[in-house]
Amino acid sequence: MLPPIYLDHHATTPLDPRVLEGMLPFLREHFGNAASRNHVFGRHAAAAVEEARERVAQAIGARDAEIVFTAGASEANALALLGLAAGEAAAHLVTSAIEHPSVLDNARRLERAGWSLTVLPVDRFGRVDPEDVRAALAPHTRLVSVMAANNEVGTLQPIAAIGAVVRESAALFHVDATQALGRVPIDVEASGIDLLSLSAHKAYGPKGVGALYRRRRPRRVRLGPLFEGGGQEDGLRPGTLNVPGIVGMGLACELAMAEMPAESRRLLALRQRLQARLLRELDGLQLNGHPEQRLAGSLHLSLAGVDPDALLLGLEDVAASAGSACSTGAVKPSYVLQAIGRTGTTGAAQAQQGAALRLCVGRFNTEDEIDRAAQCIVERVRALRRAA
Ligand SMILES: *Cc1c(COP(=O)(O)O)cnc(C)c1O
Repeated sequence: MLPPIYLDHHATTPLDPRVLEGMLPFLREHFGNAASRNHVFGRHAAAAVEEARERVAQAIGARDAEIVFTAGASEANALALLGLAAGEAAAHLVTSAIEHPSVLDNARRLERAGWSLTVLPVDRFGRVDPEDVRAALAPHTRLVSVMAANNEVGTLQPIAAIGAVVRESAALFHVDATQALGRVPIDVEASGIDLLSLSAHKAYGPKGVGALYRRRRPRRVRLGPLFEGGGQEDGLRPGTLNVPGIVGMGLACELAMAEMPAESRRLLALRQRLQARLLRELDGLQLNGHPEQRLAGSLHLSLAGVDPDALLLGLEDVAASAGSACSTGAVKPSYVLQAIGRTGTTGAAQAQQGAALRLCVGRFNTEDEIDRAAQCIVERVRALRRAA
């Protein structure tokens, strides 16, 4: 029996063996604490951390000193929102309805602490309109937080256009770029970004490490730490640095940048192959997210007349993420699909009844795997529809 085909790259990605190779010495002989500058073990670790910082900075067009390592993008998002609010009077925050919970739930936490919160709607493709951002901006708006690419439907946001709108105000611009890292170019200067969150494990790096970019020039963004401790990471992230993880994140960024042009073309071709085959062989499918402004490997489908629970149980040969596309089943539809459906037509909303299937093609998938996965999905959906 063949192992299941991994098509859940929005949830996490496998560790690239080249990244693992680079990490291993820091789990073995180079185990020093990066804060122990008085001996060679510590200095070696510190040098590796600074090299990784440079690699992460280069991937987003930032300066080394603007990178703060964290335990992942959830923490980076929390540090961006709560760290900005720390020690400041309550102000106004603008975000979108389809952000990751680590943005939305921390935004709601700020709201409970007295902030005013505007949650912008998205269109039926999952896009935020920069003009909606403009309309939401008020004199007391402190932060606008919009993700670069959605982790569920794969839609890319018009980040540079939103950044230009935010730039005209006194507000800061935060971007959760977790799904964008290594998949689409990110440039904090060109897009007018002040704060940006990243995670290593969505880009073929290790789990449990991420970074927050925090602008220093021309206007320095002042943040407070989420908790107290040592003075690591400019006093923003206390705790002994995760040296192997940080080294892995740096290597993952370097590889992603080097391979992105060719790899995104390859992923696009594979995803289009999968999409074309499913649409050809199955009726009642609807593509969710934007048809063009989307991550190359990302495919999100609503499958009419398919029981979401049964689909989840039955897809043993394909590792994907499945859910409900309507609110009548036991499986609740995601808030992202609800946000997209809100502005949809009745016809589109009806076509979405049934199951939702999130697929994302990644670095180690082959054409043969894509064909096998398509075959499995087609057979499963046909069987479920026959049984219904
Ligand atoms: C995965 C993800 C996160 C959380 O990242 P972790 O490093 O797992 O905490 C945040 N935002 C988006 C868009 C994600 O896809």
